[in-house]
Amino acid sequence: MPAITEDFPFLKGVVYLDSAATSQMPVQVREVMADHYRLGASNVHRGVYDWSVRATDRFEETRQKVAEFIGASDPAECIFTGGTTEALNTVAQTWGEANISEGDTIVVTLMEHHSNLLPWMQLAERKKARLLWWEVTDEGELDLAQLPEILAAQPKLVALSWVSNVLGTINPVQTLVPQLKEHGAVVILDGAQGVPHLPTDVKALGADFLAFSAHKMMGPTGVGVLWGKRELLDAMPPCRFGGSMILSVRQDRVRWAELPHKFEGGTPNISGVHGLGAAVDYLQEVGMDSIRAHELELVGYAMEKFSNLDGLIVYGPQDPLKRSGVLSFDFHGIHPHDLATLIGREGVCVRAGHHCCQPLLKKLGRQGTTRASFYLYNTKKDVDALVLALKKAREVFKEIL
Ligand code: PMP
Repeated sequence: MPAITEDFPFLKGVVYLDSAATSQMPVQVREVMADHYRLGASNVHRGVYDWSVRATDRFEETRQKVAEFIGASDPAECIFTGGTTEALNTVAQTWGEANISEGDTIVVTLMEHHSNLLPWMQLAERKKARLLWWEVTDEGELDLAQLPEILAAQPKLVALSWVSNVLGTINPVQTLVPQLKEHGAVVILDGAQGVPHLPTDVKALGADFLAFSAHKMMGPTGVGVLWGKRELLDAMPPCRFGGSMILSVRQDRVRWAELPHKFEGGTPNISGVHGLGAAVDYLQEVGMDSIRAHELELVGYAMEKFSNLDGLIVYGPQDPLKRSGVLSFDFHGIHPHDLATLIGREGVCVRAGHHCCQPLLKKLGRQGTTRASFYLYNTKKDVDALVLALKKAREVFKEIL
């Protein structure tokens, strides 16, 4: 891992272990975003003066960078959205509205984030479709024994997360998607926890749609990407009507713009998209293989340290190779909010709660977990600081536990 700490000066003295919620932004990305206002702001795709051309060029260059980053051959298949949530809702409101009918089956997994759950639950309710839940095993993996049942149901749609934001489980997408597709399913992949941490190739993943957020990959909030196969996107009606998404409007007829603009009505988050481009540059420079290797090392190290902590239970697969840099745990049954608060007092930032995955938490028999998550700026020293903070928290509770 190259020395990158100078790119994150604000991390000095803080142990930030909440990148699954949002990642930190290197100064390089911040500067590119500030440039948009510092050098003169303008709208995109409209003005013909220098500022506007500069803003538009950078905007469209980002689309190309994103396409390359995820292995998409056509940048027009990459639609800028407000984030993963908006991307998933867009597919539900357009593809879903047009393609799901009464009696159809939609499969969702028990480990989905509410963002890849509620749009489909709502759609199923609206359309009187059947919702089939793909269960999770006690080891925190998708229950593959249920696959024959899933395939036999011939679902129209399968909504699947690439990586779980609670369990850290990396789902075996590459082996599952071809089987699902053979049985006629359209597969939508929630890439919010995958794309920032694993090398991504949409062709190898094989899904029809992929959604992810810039703020979990060193970019800003309020920007994300919906990638989709061109034939599906072309056939989908737009769902956000307004400026920039039409070819022509007459009193008696409207013609929609070509991809990707058809789905990008209104003024986009221009500096945010520029920031995403800079974030992709940053990640490319470090290298996604190196990032994966680094996180794997940290997770392996953390799990080893945790195994020496009496009363600590890590949820999800115990094999680090099957998981990302997300570690949800229980420690002596201490309430996650109490634990996160005590850990926070030691300067270690972790997350506590249901992580927007209530059905999964119910399965775990918990209202919440404490979650530490790693990214490229974390080190083994951060893990040591977490372990020390946990030991101190245990001391606070020793009278009552
Ligand atoms: N899916 C997963 C797996 C996530 O972790 C998150 C963010 N916690 C989302 C979807 C939603 O992302 P956003 O809030 O950026 O739309």
